Amino acid sequence: MSQETAGSGPENTQAPPRHFIHEIVASHVQSGRYAGRVGTRFPPEPNGYLHIGHAKSICLNFGLAREFGGTCNLRMDDTNPAREEVEYVESIIQDVNWLIQGWADPFLNLKQAGTSSGIGLLAKDKGNRTLEPFYASDYFGQIYDFALELIRKGKAYICDLSPEDTERYRGTPDRPGQDSPFRDRSVEENVDLFQRMKAGEFVDGARTLRAKIDMSSPNIWLRDPVLYRIRHVEHHHTGKAWCVYPMYDFAHCLSDYIEGITHSICTLEFEVHRPLYDWILESLSLPRELPKQYEFARLSLGYTLMSKRKLLQLVQEKTVIGWDDPRMPTISGLRRRGYTPESIRHFCELIGVTKYNGLTDMSLLEFAVREDLNKKSHRAMAVLHPIKVIIDNYPEGEVEWLEAVNNPEDPAAGHRKVPFSKEIYIERDDFMELPAKKFYRLFPGNEVRLRYAYILKCVSMEKDSEGNLLALRATLDPDSKSGGATAGRKIKATIHWVSAPHATRAEVRLYDRLFTVEEPDAADGGGYASHLNPKSLEVLSQCVLEPSLASASPGQRFQFERLGYFCADTKDSTPGAPVFNRTATLRDGWVKEQHKTV
Ligand code: ATP
Ligand code: MG
Repeated sequence: MSQETAGSGPENTQAPPRHFIHEIVASHVQSGRYAGRVGTRFPPEPNGYLHIGHAKSICLNFGLAREFGGTCNLRMDDTNPAREEVEYVESIIQDVNWLIQGWADPFLNLKQAGTSSGIGLLAKDKGNRTLEPFYASDYFGQIYDFALELIRKGKAYICDLSPEDTERYRGTPDRPGQDSPFRDRSVEENVDLFQRMKAGEFVDGARTLRAKIDMSSPNIWLRDPVLYRIRHVEHHHTGKAWCVYPMYDFAHCLSDYIEGITHSICTLEFEVHRPLYDWILESLSLPRELPKQYEFARLSLGYTLMSKRKLLQLVQEKTVIGWDDPRMPTISGLRRRGYTPESIRHFCELIGVTKYNGLTDMSLLEFAVREDLNKKSHRAMAVLHPIKVIIDNYPEGEVEWLEAVNNPEDPAAGHRKVPFSKEIYIERDDFMELPAKKFYRLFPGNEVRLRYAYILKCVSMEKDSEGNLLALRATLDPDSKSGGATAGRKIKATIHWVSAPHATRAEVRLYDRLFTVEEPDAADGGGYASHLNPKSLEVLSQCVLEPSLASASPGQRFQFERLGYFCADTKDSTPGAPVFNRTATLRDGWVKEQHKTV
């Protein structure tokens, strides 16, 4: 387990998570900084779907706003039109809302913050309860004006160096950079050129706007960084309105300021950008208290990837069926797999927030979802690898509807009726012709208890001419049902089953980790593509389910007794022909071990 998770217990604590950023925010609230107001934001670039790493940031930012009665803005950091798409914008809105709904209500925040700050521009209310995003691109006009202000103050200039020369002049961490020959242009010339850049007079790459800071700074980000570049490309949100676009560093701090953000929280790789963040804001004459940037360690999860660019590649190369493939570490993939928002939020609480990069074990995520689904999901019986059992001493045509508990963890979940009849299916693995040591389930002459039903004894086997097992013959103890005279008999194993004539046929998809190595990114030999797990998806098309599962609605979650947690697929499942995804096994590694030894 990583450093990040060390020390955090699995208990679902009610108290808000404490960590260094929490301490900072709490001290500011207490000292009345920003008039005691807390404004955070989650600023994804819409160039891919959100992943579990983003969930960490969402929980942190919305969690702080929630705890301190502040606000958290969802902001599209959309300053790079070439890589961004509306599909991504829409998926981000859906995923963030799914993750926070019912937990961090943005409109509750709006009301509270509206009275205390007077800054406006907080969560937008579109008349429904969906959190609507802000767009950095909505501020292009204001950001452009701020750029003009820097130029007029002699703090920015138009540079005609080519991108290659700009790079060359910048120097290296141990070699100072060299001033651009365009550094001393007059304010008038700079204003004129910047306006003409905006008017579309120059081709891509011809000129940039650069901050005039210090070409010999040990911090390479302060060596006259580019603030604006020319890009004649249509933007998914602003259309053809602009052909100059601000760089991330310039747009980000200003967007934070415009929205009244107080604590701008990002991942550690932005630590070196912080002096530039402060320089830009301090160089402008801004009347309000300035936002400050704080950094925390990004989430890295074992056996998967945590980069939108690489996840996009898996999608494009059809390694997975899409961004929401249940094997993907994306929020949409986890949702389709059966993860609940609560389990993901709990996971984010368990990993904590630190300044140390480490690798988090996938088993912690699985732990979180098991814990949540154990409390919430109805139990049901499903047989994934069926073999038929014919019960010789049970009357032909008779059907009993036996009472089954929906959820032993939740008495309010009630009961359901499960049909029992002369022919049932059990798991192929629950039978062995020649039992291994310590195998207590079904074998010729042995007894098992059928869940909610009778004690069953295997008496013989039916095989085809090649010796393949076709069915089992059995008898049952007629008094061994719950409440019967022999119900209390000691039997070592209980197995699940499904009545054959009542069974619903279904496809069940079992998932395993996408990669065979813990850090596919870092592994040697041909990049991550060569470490794909060929067994990450197993499709079982001959499964049989108890009839109550026939009407499972897409997205509905169950615990299949003894097998794990399963969720009706939201895209491929139809009434009468259900498709289930395995969310998680019941125990870490346990089921697999069983399969190996049996
Ligand atoms: P990727 O490399 O996957 O594209 P990114 O950092 O470029 O990630 P953004 O869309 O810029 O993605 O991220 C939005 C926010 O989510 C940022 O504040 C970023 O710091 C945070 N974030 C991204 N990845 C992680 C992660 N693995 N753990 C925690 N926070 C993350
Ligand atoms: Mg980014």
